[in-house]
Amino acid sequence: MCGIVGYIGNKEALPFLINGLKKLEYRGYDSAGFCIQHDGKLSVVKRKGKVKELENASKSLKITGHMGIAHTRWATHGAPNEANAHPHLDCKGAIAIVHNGIIENYGALKEMLKKEGHRFFSETDTEVLAHLIEKFKGKNLESAVAMALKLVEGTFGLLVIDKTSQEIIAAKKGSPLLLGIGSQEIIIASDASAIAGHTKKVVYLNDSEMAIISSNNYVVKNVNGKVVEKKIHDMEMTVQQIEKRGFKHFMAKEIFEQPLAIENTLRGRIGDGRIKLSIDVDVKKVKRIIITACGTSWHSALIGKYLIEKIIGIQVEVDYASEFRYRNPIIKKGDLVVAISQSGETADTLAALKEAKQKGAKTLGVVNVVGSTVAREVDFGIYLHAGPEIGVASTKAFTCQVTALLLFALYLQQQKGVLDKKILEELKKIPAKIEEILKESKNIRILAQKFKASKNFLYLGRGLNFPVALEGALKLKEISYIHAEGYPAAEMKHGPIALIDEHMPVVFIAPKDDTYQKIISNMQEIKARGGTVIAIINENEPYIAALTNHVIKVPKTLDILSPLLNVIPLQLLAYHIADLKGLNVDKPRNLAKSVTVE
Ligand code: GLU
Repeated sequence: MCGIVGYIGNKEALPFLINGLKKLEYRGYDSAGFCIQHDGKLSVVKRKGKVKELENASKSLKITGHMGIAHTRWATHGAPNEANAHPHLDCKGAIAIVHNGIIENYGALKEMLKKEGHRFFSETDTEVLAHLIEKFKGKNLESAVAMALKLVEGTFGLLVIDKTSQEIIAAKKGSPLLLGIGSQEIIIASDASAIAGHTKKVVYLNDSEMAIISSNNYVVKNVNGKVVEKKIHDMEMTVQQIEKRGFKHFMAKEIFEQPLAIENTLRGRIGDGRIKLSIDVDVKKVKRIIITACGTSWHSALIGKYLIEKIIGIQVEVDYASEFRYRNPIIKKGDLVVAISQSGETADTLAALKEAKQKGAKTLGVVNVVGSTVAREVDFGIYLHAGPEIGVASTKAFTCQVTALLLFALYLQQQKGVLDKKILEELKKIPAKIEEILKESKNIRILAQKFKASKNFLYLGRGLNFPVALEGALKLKEISYIHAEGYPAAEMKHGPIALIDEHMPVVFIAPKDDTYQKIISNMQEIKARGGTVIAIINENEPYIAALTNHVIKVPKTLDILSPLLNVIPLQLLAYHIADLKGLNVDKPRNLAKSVTVE
């Protein structure tokens, strides 16, 4: 999920690797390392923290060599420390590997390799790859890598070298990798920004392809070992464009990354019709669940309440972390406190967590950043694996939090022996359905143009989609500075309806679920008072036109999964309005990404 750089050529590799890693710094990472081959030896240096630390550490070591691999890690398996930083080596220290992605079946592979006598030095999933390659290394590195990868499930962009061969082996599945072709040198990277400035000629690897790279040649093969002819592209983008993968802002990139991010949250956790989470929560012992969080995470907590109560019937309370901690909350035996935080460093959430622990509650974390304080404090946790989120306004972390809470609810249901497989099957289709909604981005921008001058917005939803209304309103407030409120649709008539006039756009979240007829009546109430209605719907029924000014269609899914789809157009609407207003979308005024103050 983070950065890879490799160099092979007629120059010293180290400066290329360090500069390449620096170019990847914008992605956010927790540790870095490199390995350089020279004179039949591998020199490995790793450091926790910034690339600068790695650079300083390497200065006094006088490492030379013309081929090497390097990595910035964004931990998914194991805390961010020096031992877990890449490159990882095999038992004999003869093979080195850097890897982006997640090896889903690493648990089983590790067990097998341990039984065969392999010794492990880190907690990462990546290290199994080094030992698997070692296992197959009878002949050459290339065939050993190919054989190892046949046993691997999951995603990878990876580079491998060994002590003696004059080639770097690269392989890719579900994680980007490209080659920059220079004269007498080839740079390999997970991201074009590490190549820009050196050469404009690039070759993009496709999934399931493997490249055998020497300083003046490269051969790309498919899974069957057949040579694939690759096109050399001209790289036109600037470094800044590359960092955002061609999107204007990180927030847009992260909105569009959601199908993949959700796949990563699910990766390795649903298989053979079962939920696999490495937590130890006994459904029989849990009497009540209290979810505590702030901001967007508080909205996913509210969805979590609906989900858990609906799926397993355990009572759930949701509390703002800042309120929970100062209220002298009542914690009883059988209470499980769930803390949700993207960064895992949110000060209020941490304090709430400490309060809960002090009072004897069992704790569970739902966190994106591996090894963060929340992750370390809780009894057990579910990582999102959403990748770094750089835009201040959270988008992919939100949908991945909802996904993680759903997995948790299903995990509890499974313990009761009644796992609803329909939900599991439909969950797998969610990424593709989000892709469909993302295609509406251009139309939503046209809508944004119409409403960008509005002073107020109202967002209304019912049931599971009431928190989605809150989240839609929060997104708009955060980045466009337009005042917006979210309400349960039925509450509108108890107050906010007084605000309705032709200047008040009202966004309805109206999926075809068991609240649908009710929400249609609420639309009528707004229309009757001259309000402007924008509706998120599943089907454009004939009567809808009379009730709405604009509609955005999203695919139908199970009621319980609908927040994962309905929030996408709301994120896009907020994004386009803010962008059309010329605002600083990624760094909105007064806001910080990880709120580490009370
Ligand atoms: N899963 C690997 C790890 O935790 C790779 C993480 C990454 O992509 O940076 O070390």
